[in-house]
Amino acid sequence: MSPVAGFHLHLYQPPREDPWLGLVANEWSAWPYHDWNERIAAECYRAMVAVALPLGENGETELVEPLTRSSLDVGPTLHYWLERHSPDVERALGYQVRRAASGPSAVAIAAPLVHAILPLASAKDRDRLIAWGIADYARRFGASPLGMWLPETAVDLATLESIARQGIRYTILMPTQAVRVREPGGDWRPVDAHSLDTSRPYLVQLGEGRTITVVFGHASLSQRVAFGDLIDDGTELADIMARELHDRDGVVLLVADGETYGHHHRFGDLGLAWALRRLQRHHKLETTLGAWLATTEPTWEVELALVSAWSCAHGVERWRSDCGCVTGEQPGWHQGWRAPLREALDWLREALGGAVDAELARHLRSVDDALLDYGRVLSGEAEPHEFVTIHAHRPLDADETSRVLELCEVHRNLLYSFTSCAWFFADPAEIETSIVLRYAAVAMEIGFRALDVDLEAGLLERLAKVRSNRPGIEGRTLWRRACDAYRFDEALVVAGFAAELFASKDSARTVRGFWRMKAEPTDDDPDARRIVLTNTLTLRQSHYLTRVERLGGLGVEVHVNDADSSRRFVLGELGNDVVARVACSWLIGPGSENYEGALDLLAAQLLEQPASSDEAAVLVALASAPRYVTPIAEASIRRALTALVGQPISKTDIDLLTPLARAVGLSEIVETN
Ligand SMILES: [Zn+2]
Repeated sequence: MSPVAGFHLHLYQPPREDPWLGLVANEWSAWPYHDWNERIAAECYRAMVAVALPLGENGETELVEPLTRSSLDVGPTLHYWLERHSPDVERALGYQVRRAASGPSAVAIAAPLVHAILPLASAKDRDRLIAWGIADYARRFGASPLGMWLPETAVDLATLESIARQGIRYTILMPTQAVRVREPGGDWRPVDAHSLDTSRPYLVQLGEGRTITVVFGHASLSQRVAFGDLIDDGTELADIMARELHDRDGVVLLVADGETYGHHHRFGDLGLAWALRRLQRHHKLETTLGAWLATTEPTWEVELALVSAWSCAHGVERWRSDCGCVTGEQPGWHQGWRAPLREALDWLREALGGAVDAELARHLRSVDDALLDYGRVLSGEAEPHEFVTIHAHRPLDADETSRVLELCEVHRNLLYSFTSCAWFFADPAEIETSIVLRYAAVAMEIGFRALDVDLEAGLLERLAKVRSNRPGIEGRTLWRRACDAYRFDEALVVAGFAAELFASKDSARTVRGFWRMKAEPTDDDPDARRIVLTNTLTLRQSHYLTRVERLGGLGVEVHVNDADSSRRFVLGELGNDVVARVACSWLIGPGSENYEGALDLLAAQLLEQPASSDEAAVLVALASAPRYVTPIAEASIRRALTALVGQPISKTDIDLLTPLARAVGLSEIVETN
């Protein structure tokens, strides 16, 4: 057994996908990146895959892979995004972790599926979040996890019991969470954050003779890396860490969010790689916690506070009351909104979850067993229809199968609505709270369709007590803002597919977010298509007849008919990702996704021709489509914006263009129009 000095990296982003569509909407505040995940992936996660460090004095370099030399967890919501949008990072991470000498668990620990405060979850929800996180880990790394990260390190005995029952052997906490310690055969003695010896692992006694191991992060060094400048000098950092061990066996673990290294601290990835290399080569220390724990048997015991977390001094009050712990506050602000927000969502979970379980019980042998196992569907390990077949107490037809899957999706969306970031910041009028309200809305909408239970009035009555610090904004306003722009509509999804098909001469994508489409021509009308739309999560299918007409300029008109209704959509309604593809086909050629080239041509056209509202929608869509807007594209955007606002345009178009104008520094010309 040799001592270990290393880092635990908590890699996490909230789910930014539109929960109806399954795609991440553009976030203007992350400009010139498409969204914050793209930006942080570029600055941080991609940078950490491999870092070039100088080797010796001759200008040579070597590549260091800090992830394989650390301890890390990847929040499943981030991992899901990486897999779809940054496959280079996701594959490198998977490859590096799987290849670790003593197996993936030497490096990576699991995390619950959703970043929810586990002590505040219901017992069943807690078990599901943990089971789904373990399933996600198993599918991605091909092994069972030994450790689990607890979001915000929020913990109580029930949480530890649940992870231990599900096979987890250790977790990582911070010193403020310990109350008493006892050496083998000794008496309990009180400790605090300063007196706790964090160099040894501890056991927590659980029920039925079970125990779980806790490793405590080094508080002051973790703090100095996350919020100070210690990461700027990798040599000094490594030497301080080695000195903390005092030449004895034990652990020095620095715990921080993954974004610390490259996003919050520029070149933090470099400091991390440098420190790890020096710890290993110069100080001859082990740096991966999991590998060290595999050979270390804890003997001391620790008693933890009844309930605690690393970013709240009051247990887990930060996520349900105005306890005073806050990030981003302004003078005179309060967080009286936290309690009613949690009460509203707790109420929804009870009311809707109960109705869903009663219906699921009609189809499944055990609702609880099935929902625990649903994690294998979410991870991609099990096919949805196979999952239903395994758990149904009799053979189900396609409609019943979709119904079961829809009801499981209600539970998933309800759990996503407890993402802790919604309570973390100073005010509910921020993106994080919108995100959880969207998930609540989707859960409610699926529940309404499947069970005819309408809980919106009840939820809104409770949300009315949520008061933003910004004047005139309360929970119902936040609800409308969060939901209106995203509200679920299959006909709109079909219209988008039909428009892309028409513009790209049938080389359009057939999958968009959660939706899959199959199109067939009709006998009599060359511009009409029969479309079968499938929700890939629930396997629910619906059938439509569409017809697309090209209007003048860039515009199209899409007619969507199903058995009951006939709808008409214009280009600007179809969603930025669709508008950008249609416009590329018009401007460059069928099927093109050359957004930058299309922007150039649009800017050129606008100088010569009068604009319609289609051009405003196309400009915004083309600016929102790329993962990163290059300086060349930005120059075209500025030209096109200037040309557009020089023409008579509507108030709606001004509103549409304003966020883009702000992003490229031209807000004055739009706002004074
Ligand atoms: Zn607090």
